[in-house]
Amino acid sequence: TQQTLTNIHDHEDALNAYVTVNDDEALAQAKQADESGIDADNVFSGVPVAYKDNLTTKGLLTTAASKILYNFKPVYDADVVTRLRAAGAVTIGKTNLDEFAMGGSTETSYFGTVHNPWDTTKVPGGSSGGSAATVAAGDVLAALGSDTGGSIRQPAAFNGIVGLKPTYGRVSRWGLIAFASSLDQIGPMTQNVTDAAAMMNVIAGSDERDATSSSKEVPDYVAGLSGDIKGLKIGVPKEFLGEGIDEGVRGQIKTAIKKLEALGATVDEVSLPHSTHGIQAYYILGPSEASSNLQRFDGIRYGYRTPNAKNLEELYVKTRSEGFGDEVKRRIMLGTFALSAGSFDAFFMKAAKIRTLIIEDFKKVFADYDVIVGPTAPTPAFGIGAETKDPMTMYMNDMLTVPANLAGLPAVSVPAGLVDGLPVGLQVIGRPFDESRVLNTAFAFE
Ligand code: GLN
Repeated sequence: TQQTLTNIHDHEDALNAYVTVNDDEALAQAKQADESGIDADNVFSGVPVAYKDNLTTKGLLTTAASKILYNFKPVYDADVVTRLRAAGAVTIGKTNLDEFAMGGSTETSYFGTVHNPWDTTKVPGGSSGGSAATVAAGDVLAALGSDTGGSIRQPAAFNGIVGLKPTYGRVSRWGLIAFASSLDQIGPMTQNVTDAAAMMNVIAGSDERDATSSSKEVPDYVAGLSGDIKGLKIGVPKEFLGEGIDEGVRGQIKTAIKKLEALGATVDEVSLPHSTHGIQAYYILGPSEASSNLQRFDGIRYGYRTPNAKNLEELYVKTRSEGFGDEVKRRIMLGTFALSAGSFDAFFMKAAKIRTLIIEDFKKVFADYDVIVGPTAPTPAFGIGAETKDPMTMYMNDMLTVPANLAGLPAVSVPAGLVDGLPVGLQVIGRPFDESRVLNTAFAFE
């Protein structure tokens, strides 16, 4: 833990991966772990773990990378934090992210941009960019991220690490600062598939404090890693290798698919015809839920409060105007508009219908295929500042990741080589609660 703290501090100037490094308590937690030792219930004993700063940690600053929570110290731990602490993990720090996890480059953070350790002029992806960067830099073996439209998988791809978004309901969202509650899931970001499986063994499971949490039994994900994928039926959606996909990325993914075939899987082209409308549906539904979830940040209950208000109305308006950044305001406006009486049918309902069509597309393919594979992101990491001027360009980055969120499916990104010296991710999407097969496919491949 001491060495990890040193490494993190050595890298912070270059990476800015953390909002808070837990210098105060990490060593005491490590000492506790030394005293209790390691056993089967305590498999993370003394292992430093980094948490995305939208996961609450009792008494430890939790900001969601927003000015509006710049001084927020939660009174409880997120369920995932409680579980990992119970398994012996040391809370090493809280990682930087796009403000309220809204973004794909970690450039919307109130605490400044995160840099990609492969090339610090490039973004680390987002929104879990800090978690991805610190794992890729070799500081920690494991971090947690959250994924609403790709925020675990896309930064995992951009940093050459493994990132899993579990099935909706597999991991409790208790203590995750909500962005879009019907899409959000917490998941592991690690240096290899085995470690992702080990983390899932700890964080998955039911929690009565999250009404959408599943009570389905949790398998042993590590034991499920046989590495054998002979006879596995893989579908590759033609929409995932078509327009908008970088030539180099397409090449790497085709090579990856050949490797999966060589390992004994059968591969066919399939179609997810409505997935091409995923972005449009996501950027209505996500902001709609966000506009509702973010109402609670009013300057009364949490964090920042404007010093400039003369009455209650002004207190609300100025706190929110001063406390939220541009991207968050854009989403609140988009969502409020989509939910307003005059546009609810034309926007929200239409997006909800597209979501259903996307779910149906997946069901049809999964009737014949075990997993779906394709790229995680259409390009490798782009330059810092390159896409901040045009939100639409930034949103298009999520075209390959949002379908799994809209359908609630498990999906992993696993490293699949380099393009121009930058990592590319192979995405494996599975049936609901089929994390074991998804992880085993990635394990056989890596
Ligand atoms: N990049 C997507 C967005 O901006 C996804 C974010 C996420 O998964 N939290 O909404």
